[in-house]
Amino acid sequence: MMTDNYLLLGAKKKLIEELRQKGITDERVLAAFDKVERHRFVESFLWDKAYENKALKLMNGQTISHPYTVAFQSQLLQVQPGDKVLEIGTGSGFQAAILSAMGARVFSVERQQQLHLSAKRLLEKLDDRIVLYYGDGFQGYPRFAPYSKIIVTCGAPEVPAALLQQLAVGGIMVIPVGDESHTMRRIVKVDDNQYDEETFGDFLFVPMLKERVNVK
Ligand code: SAH
Repeated sequence: MMTDNYLLLGAKKKLIEELRQKGITDERVLAAFDKVERHRFVESFLWDKAYENKALKLMNGQTISHPYTVAFQSQLLQVQPGDKVLEIGTGSGFQAAILSAMGARVFSVERQQQLHLSAKRLLEKLDDRIVLYYGDGFQGYPRFAPYSKIIVTCGAPEVPAALLQQLAVGGIMVIPVGDESHTMRRIVKVDDNQYDEETFGDFLFVPMLKERVNVK
């Protein structure tokens, strides 16, 4: 077991170097990847792949995003300690844990009850500051709005109006938008009716789907 941990530690250092080489320069993102152990977010038969730059399977046909995608979105979000961040698409809880390790107060919404519950069980042990909510991300999470940052980790058909509304003035939203492939957009809310927008290339995400579900 000790040897296993030692091997995983080496693999983690290598992954962080790879992220750096691919253009992740925000030291707080890299420090969070050092702190949060990705293998804890996948089943044990996948541990030897947990620090490769790959998306891995979760239950219910969902995936934990590529480490590079998680790092890239986290960097685009320009997280500051104390930021209130809303995440849409909890999945494994890994992205939420990275943002929390960067000092954000994280609220994360998941539409699949099984995934929500298993992330909840895990994060209660690893990082109990993260607030998880079983709901439909198209509605956001009005209870704790406004948020200084919003990150969507599933491919959205369009930018949901509720999310624009729940973003604080001066806040930043990072969201992949499209039908088959998804263009990464960063939206800054300049004031209540004015938004600035930049795009950052195409990515592949699982689709953002409407309404909560409870499937085994
Ligand atoms: N951030 C996750 C990535 C999970 S993949 C991680 O770090 O592991 C995207 C997730 O978005 C899936 O779990 C999927 O069920 C969820 N999702 C899809 N549509 C959604 C919606 N409308 N509201 C909330 N979550 C949604």
